[in-house]
Amino acid sequence: MRALVFDGSLTIQDVPVPEPKTGEVLIRVLCSAICNTDLEIIRGYMDFRGIPGHEFVGEVAPGFGRLSGKKVVGEINCSCGDCYLCRTGRPTHCSSRTVLGIKDHPGVFAEYTTLPERNLHEVPSWLSAESAVFTEPLAAAVEITEQLHLKPSQKVFIFGAGKLGLLISMVIGLHGCQTVTFDPDEEKVYKARAMGIQAVPLSKIGILEKAEICIDATGSPDGIQLALAHLYPAGKLVLKTTVAHPAPIDLNQIVINEFEITGSRCGPFAPAISLLSQGMVDPRPLISKTFAFSDILEAFHFSSMPGTLKVLIRH
Ligand SMILES: [Zn+2]
Ligand SMILES: [Zn+2]
Repeated sequence: MRALVFDGSLTIQDVPVPEPKTGEVLIRVLCSAICNTDLEIIRGYMDFRGIPGHEFVGEVAPGFGRLSGKKVVGEINCSCGDCYLCRTGRPTHCSSRTVLGIKDHPGVFAEYTTLPERNLHEVPSWLSAESAVFTEPLAAAVEITEQLHLKPSQKVFIFGAGKLGLLISMVIGLHGCQTVTFDPDEEKVYKARAMGIQAVPLSKIGILEKAEICIDATGSPDGIQLALAHLYPAGKLVLKTTVAHPAPIDLNQIVINEFEITGSRCGPFAPAISLLSQGMVDPRPLISKTFAFSDILEAFHFSSMPGTLKVLIRH
């Protein structure tokens, strides 16, 4: 099969169709999307080698159990089910986990991929592939509301009007909180406003302007510092950024201001699918461009250009 392979550089190669392990099924990829994590991987994040990609909609190949022939999305963490962390309800932190297209598991920028059957969720028939492909990043946004008790009376600042920042803004907005999304790129601010999000250019933030909850979705090494500077004492900071090269940070301010810091990664798929299928979140305005799989190298180049939001790949 044709696949995108990262081995220090990105190339399209002919590789064998992956062999599903016990409990896994073979999935034909229909549509995939490029995530910031994919761009970080080609900058060295996680030292990943192989087929990248983890955001997808696919069809389970014939002969693979109850979901055979069904349109599915899949949770990306493949856990053992048996270790202490799995047994205590933390499978996404399984000590021997592999992660689709990120850690020791071939990803979705290929004709076929594999995942454990228990990771898969059927896509409702009325939900388009171009919406359903947002399930994984939307689940990552929903994770914040799993972790924090958001009070509608609280002010929330979101730093970064990129793909994830916008999805987070949509999800937090559903809670009735006063949310303001900041980005240095005015173009992104206008796009966010066109989606009904209250967005402000970062240059306009007052030095003393603060919120009870600040969320760093900048995807940039200095995002933490920026978010901390606008957090009330005893406020909560949520970190969504992962970068190949993090910046050093002075922890004294966390002690002095008694900040509460929450790291936040993957989230639950079921509520994300429910938000999409009920039309509570419409991610389609985030799509910048759709490429054919044969043009995926160009798609990566396009995706890394400033101002680009989601890039989809049709397989
Ligand atoms: Zn992603
Ligand atoms: Zn485990």
